[in-house]
Amino acid sequence: MDKLLQVDNLVTQFRTAEGKLSAVRGISFSVEKGETLCIVGESGCGKSITSLSIMGLLPSNGEIAEGSITFEGEVLTKKKEEELRQLRGNKMSMIFQEPMTALNPVFTVGYQLREPLVLHQHMTKRQATDKAVDLLEQVGIPDPKKRLKQFPHELSGGMRQRVMIAIALACNPSLLIADEPTTALDVTIQAQILDLIADLKRKMDMGVVFVTHDMGVVAEIADRVMVMYAGEVVEIGEVKEIFNNPQHPYTKGLLASVPNVDDEHHTLESIPGSLPNLNETIEGCRFHPRCPLATDRCKREDPPIFDVMETHQSKCWLQEVNVHDKAATSS
Ligand code: SF4
Ligand code: MG
Repeated sequence: MDKLLQVDNLVTQFRTAEGKLSAVRGISFSVEKGETLCIVGESGCGKSITSLSIMGLLPSNGEIAEGSITFEGEVLTKKKEEELRQLRGNKMSMIFQEPMTALNPVFTVGYQLREPLVLHQHMTKRQATDKAVDLLEQVGIPDPKKRLKQFPHELSGGMRQRVMIAIALACNPSLLIADEPTTALDVTIQAQILDLIADLKRKMDMGVVFVTHDMGVVAEIADRVMVMYAGEVVEIGEVKEIFNNPQHPYTKGLLASVPNVDDEHHTLESIPGSLPNLNETIEGCRFHPRCPLATDRCKREDPPIFDVMETHQSKCWLQEVNVHDKAATSS
């Protein structure tokens, strides 16, 4: 099957006074049409840098040092800035955590919705206005004609996020990247926005990359889950595999730190320790300083990615034992 997005061995680095630091360390994954892949991990694990790498929106001291990103069969990592700009807001769009930083405060909602339509789809102002009304209706904004004349500060946080989504959807993108789009919103509004994204994904058959640190959100929205730790993918699989049969000690830790609303005696476990700094050298498995199951080998040798199943992988030496067990029982 043709992948919508294919990322191979991506390394993203930043030039700093201390030299080049790798924020993303050779990760590979893919996204298909109509699929939501959640990228999950603590802040600083490389999940936002991964999405900015895909969009070609890295800060000026950042660069893709190795690997390739292929979107609808085209290699993005070979494209010029101008070609990438054509793709952005057209075939791929991104929504951010804080819509106020992405919306321009001096232009009306109507202007900001019409702009991509005039620019990328060559609509007249009249056609773009009609489409803008349509889009606001699609994202559940009442009285859209009135909203078009308003400025971002005149809207609530939830409304602004809906406007951002409407702008992102204006050109029917085939890939939507959402970086913590609901983190700043209260729970009720968050649930509405998640429903909206899921609903639009179904209707438009988009691929969605959804970045979050919240396993509750993952459970709501993911088809597949990619867990990142310190710039690497440590586990990837279908959502039910990750929740029902997590393999990597880090994933288990993340799941244990989700509060269980049905169980009042549940204690909030969190993973002791913190992410390494980008300039820290760690021998062996990058999770070993925090891993309750680390062995001497883990401190020396970096584990490869093992198959748990065809659709499920884990980057942990414990998996090697399981692979051997399976081979032994099947022979
Ligand atoms: Fe823990 Fe070792 Fe697995 Fe790393 S390889 S996650 S240290 S058990
Ligand atoms: Mg982030």
